[in-house]
Amino acid sequence: MSKRILVTGGAGFLGSHLTEQLLEAGHEVLCVDNFFTGTRGNIKHLLGHKNFEVLRHDVTMPLYVEVDEIYNLACPASPIHYQHDPVQTTKTSVHGAINMLGLAKRLKIKIFQASTSEVYGDPSVHPQPEEYWGHVNPVGVRSCYDEGKRCAETLFFDYHRQHGLKIKVARIFNTYGPRMHPNDGRVVSNFVVQALQNADITIYGDGLQTRSFCYVDDLIDGFIKLMGSSDSVTGPINLGNPAEFTVLQLAQKVIEITGSRSKLVFKPIPHDDPRQRQPDIAKARALLGWEPKVQLTDGLERMINYFEQHLKQYA
Ligand code: NAD
Ligand code: UDP
Ligand code: UDP
Repeated sequence: MSKRILVTGGAGFLGSHLTEQLLEAGHEVLCVDNFFTGTRGNIKHLLGHKNFEVLRHDVTMPLYVEVDEIYNLACPASPIHYQHDPVQTTKTSVHGAINMLGLAKRLKIKIFQASTSEVYGDPSVHPQPEEYWGHVNPVGVRSCYDEGKRCAETLFFDYHRQHGLKIKVARIFNTYGPRMHPNDGRVVSNFVVQALQNADITIYGDGLQTRSFCYVDDLIDGFIKLMGSSDSVTGPINLGNPAEFTVLQLAQKVIEITGSRSKLVFKPIPHDDPRQRQPDIAKARALLGWEPKVQLTDGLERMINYFEQHLKQYA
C-alpha cells in the first residue's frame, strides 16, 4: 500500500538513499531538511519525481504536515559538523525529537529514529549489544551528539510508554557509500578523496582504533525492514556491519583499490575518540532477518567509482 512518508534529513547522505528506496517502492516522500550538511545535489535527480516533495525547514521548530509515517534522520553526523555548532546539535536531536514525536502523536503514526552507536561512547564491552548502557563523557566535545541522541532515545521510549506511540529506534554504526560529502570529514570519505587525489592520508592517532563499516544499501534495507516489523519490535536495535577493521587497515584497502601514491601521515587523535567499535547484530538477525551483505572491499569499490565520477562537480 502506498504511503506518504516524511523523511527528516532527507537531503543528507543516508536520507537521500532512503528517499530513493521509498520512492522506488511506490511511496510518496516529503523530505524536510534545513540543508546544514545536506545538499540539493543529493536529491536533484529526484526533484522531477511526481511523488517527491521538499520542504526547507529546521526540525527544532514545530512542523504541521499530514503524513502516514516518519523517519527522523535530521542531525549532522560527522564530528566536524556536529561540533561546529554544538548547541544547535543538541537542539536538533532533542527539540527535533520532541517536535517529530508530537507530530507522530497527533497523527497516531509510526516513527523511526536514527540513533547511533555513539550512545555506547568509548565502550568497555565489546562487541556492543543493545543491553550495554554505554560509556559516554557527558561534558566532552562529542557530548552534544552522543547525549543529544541518548536523550532522543529517552524521549522515544517515554512517548511509547506514556502515549502508546509506535516507535522504531535504530542504533546505526559507521556507514559509508556514494553521496557522502567529500568534505564530510568522516574517515571513509576522507581516505577515498585523499587517495584519489594522491594526497596524504590522515591517520588520527596510531590508527589501531577500530570501526565496523556498513555499506549504505545494506543499512537502508535494515531501516525499511525495521519500519515494517511488528509493533512489538521497538528497538533499540543495532544496525551495522560486524566486520571490524582498524583505521590503518581501512587506509591500506583504499590505497590498494585506488592504486594511489598517497602516503600515510599521523595526526593527533581527537578528544574522546572511541577506541573500538563493533555491533552485535544478533537482534537484527533474529527479529528482522537482516544482516549486511556487502563486504568492505566491494563497497569501497562502488564508492570509489562514484567519487571518481563526481569529485569534479564539487571542485
Ligand atoms: P548527513 O549530515 O549527511 O545528513 C543529515 C541531514 O540532516 C542533512 O541533510 C542536514 O542538512 C539535515 N539536518 C541537520 N540538522 C537539521 C535540522 N535542525 N533540521 C532539519 N534538517 C537538519 O548525515 P547522515 O550520515 O546522512 O546521517 C543521517 C542520520 O543518521 C543522522 O541522524 C545521524 O546521526 C545518523 N547516523 C549516521 C551514521 C553514519 O555513519 N552515516 C551513523 C550513526 C548515526
Ligand atoms: N508538534 C508539531 N507538530 C504537530 C504536533 C506537535 O511540531 O503536529 C510539536 C509541538 O511543538 C509540541 C511538540 O511537538 O510542542 C510536542 O507535542 P506534544 O503533543 O507531545 O506536547 P505539547 O503539545 O503538549 O507540548
Ligand atoms: N579518522 C582518521 N582520519 C580521518 C578521519 C577520521 O584516522 O581523516 C579516524 C577517527 O579518529 C576515528 C575513526 O577514523 O577513530 C572514525 O572516524 P569518523 O569521524 O568517520 O567516525 P566516528 O569517530 O564518529 O566513528
